[in-house]
Amino acid sequence: MLGLSSLMGTGALMAPEGDAKAAVEWAEHFQKNYRLMTDEEKSEARLRLEKRYSEEYSKKVAVDITGPQPGMLMGYALNVRKCIGCRRCVKACVAENNQSRGERPGERIEWIQVLRMERGEFSQEKMDQGYPEGLGIQVGGNAYSPAGQVLEGQYHYKPEAVPEKDATYMPIACMQCEKPPCVKVCPVRTTYREGDGPVVIDYNWCIGCKMCMNACPYWARRFNLTTPVLPKDAMNPVTHYLGNRPRMRGVVEKCHWCLQRTRHNRYPACVEVCPVGARKFGNLLDPESEVSKVLARKNVFRLKAELNTYPKFFYFYD
Ligand code: SF4
Ligand code: SF4
Repeated sequence: MLGLSSLMGTGALMAPEGDAKAAVEWAEHFQKNYRLMTDEEKSEARLRLEKRYSEEYSKKVAVDITGPQPGMLMGYALNVRKCIGCRRCVKACVAENNQSRGERPGERIEWIQVLRMERGEFSQEKMDQGYPEGLGIQVGGNAYSPAGQVLEGQYHYKPEAVPEKDATYMPIACMQCEKPPCVKVCPVRTTYREGDGPVVIDYNWCIGCKMCMNACPYWARRFNLTTPVLPKDAMNPVTHYLGNRPRMRGVVEKCHWCLQRTRHNRYPACVEVCPVGARKFGNLLDPESEVSKVLARKNVFRLKAELNTYPKFFYFYD
């Protein structure tokens, strides 16, 4: 079987001499799914991409290929009582992870959604009595004593100040499920769970069928309907192959817990920026990690736990 190096060699023969672009395209065309690449093939892909991105963004771009470290299982916990809905995590995530930031339809991508919800009163006795009269359709349970007109979670909100009176906030993003439905349905197996926990995507193999988007119960995946808008000066040059490297039109993307940072013992950008310390991240296999201590001591729940997707993203309150 032909290796990538020999194919690249053949490509160079077919391309006019010095036509580096054609050779790169040829090599990319025959690139294996990252999951199946040898270390040598990964290094070749890395060098090729670093060269291409550096030229494209007029700066030195690094494409990390560091793999999972033994003894690590990443986990995340978010304190829903602390979140003030400032959306700093959303903005930090966009900047760190090279998300598209255009203004036209389909050009703006945000992996984190902070849902604003109305504070209500949950009364077990009233559970079988339906919703209060005159409020129309409500989502989210028997919200008695409604304080405003917010009947379901909203993520496009622009208050003058946060936190708002009578509002509560629930940030959501990829839950890095242990049994991810998105992985099960991918026809080209380009999305898969890494050994240290995160569910990743090899963008080069994504065919944009959106099966994973339909399968995800947490609305965590985004589709690049257009060529992503990523200005040169705003591009973050510290990237990971399976993470924040620039994406292309027609592929799906999502949160990967900042692999370019977390595989080097740094916090994800959202954890670092949160002004109230609502976000905790660490190694679930280490009982002394912050996230393990949260799970051991706090009131913890997982979103849609009944679906048995086993998220490694936990919510808690004191
Ligand atoms: S940065 Fe922290 S407080 Fe602000 S919205 Fe995100 S989680 Fe909530
Ligand atoms: S939250 Fe959605 S995208 Fe993330 S691993 Fe689970 S099913 Fe997949």
